Amino acid sequence: MSDKREGKGFAAGPPQGEIRTLGGQRSTRSDKRGGDIILEVRDLHVEFPTAAGPARAVDGVSFTLDKGMRLGLVGESGSGKSTTVLALMQLIKAPGRISAGTARLAGDDLLAMTAQQIRKARFSRIALVPQGAMNSLNPVLTVRAQIDDLLDAHQQKPDPKERASHVASLLQRVGLAATVANQYPHQLSGGMKQRVCIAIAIALSPQLIIADEPTSALDVIVQKQVMQTLIHAQKEIGAAIILVGHDMGLMAQFAHVVGVMYAGRLVEIAPVKEIFANPRHPYTRMLISSLPSFATRKVFRGIPGVAPSIVNPPSGCAFHPRCPRAEERCAREVPIDDVISAGHHVRCHFARELAPAADTGAALA
Ligand code: SF4
Repeated sequence: MSDKREGKGFAAGPPQGEIRTLGGQRSTRSDKRGGDIILEVRDLHVEFPTAAGPARAVDGVSFTLDKGMRLGLVGESGSGKSTTVLALMQLIKAPGRISAGTARLAGDDLLAMTAQQIRKARFSRIALVPQGAMNSLNPVLTVRAQIDDLLDAHQQKPDPKERASHVASLLQRVGLAATVANQYPHQLSGGMKQRVCIAIAIALSPQLIIADEPTSALDVIVQKQVMQTLIHAQKEIGAAIILVGHDMGLMAQFAHVVGVMYAGRLVEIAPVKEIFANPRHPYTRMLISSLPSFATRKVFRGIPGVAPSIVNPPSGCAFHPRCPRAEERCAREVPIDDVISAGHHVRCHFARELAPAADTGAALA
């Protein structure tokens, strides 16, 4: 979320009282400044040309992410969360384009890198665990060949013995037998394929892992196993993670910090306990209220209406046509970044007037 007025963005730091996991980190420019920030995104804009004008898929997103932290980005389809993270890897397909912004990974602007530089940075500094393991693995190559491909591209582990041992170690680190290296994707279950994708993502020990809905096609048991594998692998290499998803329950279990996106903007971000105990944006409240709860056994409440057009978004606060709290001012003024407490930022005119919600903590149980 950008804040041109105050020059501040949202900070995805650790929840209060949490000890940071910093082991195994490489030296960075941020280190030299004495800070713990690994990623700093400022005023990111991504747009796609259409006959009706530019579709602003990402509209001024800013946040920072500390080393070793896990940031969850949630929102409806079309809210801009996947586009935000794909932009960090310069993976926006033409005619889409990054029209403004910076994204500094350990001080180096990913968005200003040349094609050659970003190719080198992919997987060695910023890696992607894609949404569909079924579609992202090559069906005619063994797992070993696909890991080899990555290591060859980055000229790593040229010695055959060392490479074989590295591949076996990678697979074991994600809970797979070393023999899986000799199998083809069609011989693996969905959960195993997703673990292979995690193994590929950590193969070069990147500083940042992006996981774009990595468990969306899996059942809940396998989902949990894959998430545990991802956390374990992340801790081993000391990387930060951005997890993109729809599932607030999953975010409650996984993320240190949760950011909520709507119509291309980051509308709320806070440490996970804070955002579930004290959500201040009506949209966040409605997302949390839609979670099932054994404690209250309440009737499900959906969010009325549909996601707005990003070509002609509603004036003022883009959520106002669907917001139960909206007033006349909401259609006129774009809400600014309001800092409710340390690390808790909200873009709503009435964020300070909304009382803490009573029944939103169930997902954290
Ligand atoms: Fe609702 Fe107004 Fe707040 Fe937007 S600014 S979320 S419309 S109350």
